Amino acid sequence: MRITIDQDKCIASGQCVAAASDVFDQRDEDGIAILVNDDPPAEDAADVHHAAAVCPALAILVED
Ligand code: SF4
Repeated sequence: MRITIDQDKCIASGQCVAAASDVFDQRDEDGIAILVNDDPPAEDAADVHHAAAVCPALAILVED
């Protein structure tokens, strides 16, 4: 699984962290999303896809 966050699109809403906190976090200074694990295990796949689906800025790209 390959995950990309377009930080220029991110609006710091936090849904990705709520959906998959093992994979996404937010920067302390501005809330922009960051990856804490860019190669998560297969059991996180559903949560990662959910995070991408609920991102209001469509800033998360997931390639299986
Ligand atoms: S859900 Fe999207 S807009 Fe919100 S913090 Fe995550 S990447 Fe940014």
